[in-house]
Amino acid sequence: MAEFPIGDVVDAHVHLMPERLMAAIREALSDAAGWEFNHPTDRDEMEAALTTAGVEQYTALPYVARSGAAADLNEWVIEATADSDHAVPFATVHAADDVEAVVTDAFDAGACGLKLQLPVQGFGADDPRLGPAYEVVAARDAPVVLHAGTAPMFTDSPHVGVERFESFLASYPDIRVCVAHMGTYEIEAFLNLARDNDNVFLDTTFAMSSVAKTYMDFDPTTVSDDTLAELSTSIMYGSDYPNIPYPYAREREHLLSRDLSVEVQRDIFSRTAQRFLGND
Ligand SMILES: [Zn+2]
Repeated sequence: MAEFPIGDVVDAHVHLMPERLMAAIREALSDAAGWEFNHPTDRDEMEAALTTAGVEQYTALPYVARSGAAADLNEWVIEATADSDHAVPFATVHAADDVEAVVTDAFDAGACGLKLQLPVQGFGADDPRLGPAYEVVAARDAPVVLHAGTAPMFTDSPHVGVERFESFLASYPDIRVCVAHMGTYEIEAFLNLARDNDNVFLDTTFAMSSVAKTYMDFDPTTVSDDTLAELSTSIMYGSDYPNIPYPYAREREHLLSRDLSVEVQRDIFSRTAQRFLGND
């Protein structure tokens, strides 16, 4: 592994969920894509691996496909991270839930942001039922992470894509929102949205890994060094750990091989996430 050039690394896209839910997610991904997963799902084991890799902070992202399950899951995540020095717990919600109550309760209990896995959950970012949830998020100045792009297997989903996202953005122009996976496969459109909107962030998860071509048919070299430098205050490193079918090092070795200044690396691997999380 390349020597890591900076400290205080943040991994802005990590999943922490109960064993049984994680197993179900992995089974669905295996069925759909044939991937196999060997990384631990236990919090302590995950943190040991992440801190060995130099990660000081990570977002703990949950999500559920069905309604009625988010409240318990959020409680689990908050409890599981309560004594962690590294985790930043996020909450999730389903559009068919009492979204205001679920998100308010989670934030009151310690959640720091909201995560939606739109194609799996089965609704779009601009679903009007989510309005009261976004109002809570906005009132608390909290960040949102959205799987809003079509990759890796959602090109036919009506719930993702740049138009649904732009519709959300028009309604909530002040919420700090991260589009996971660089917005692949509509990457140019999402890069432009990050260019034009200070509150729009992108995470590098999967898309900028050295094995993106193999696992999601995306070539990370199509995003130029100049673009990474230009948008370094909007792009942050993420991994999808532990649900990645390859070693953790694959997730960042491509980024580290790029001709980027140390300042740009500091942005992508640390400072941009701090701004996104509201820690700056
Ligand atoms: Zn993810």
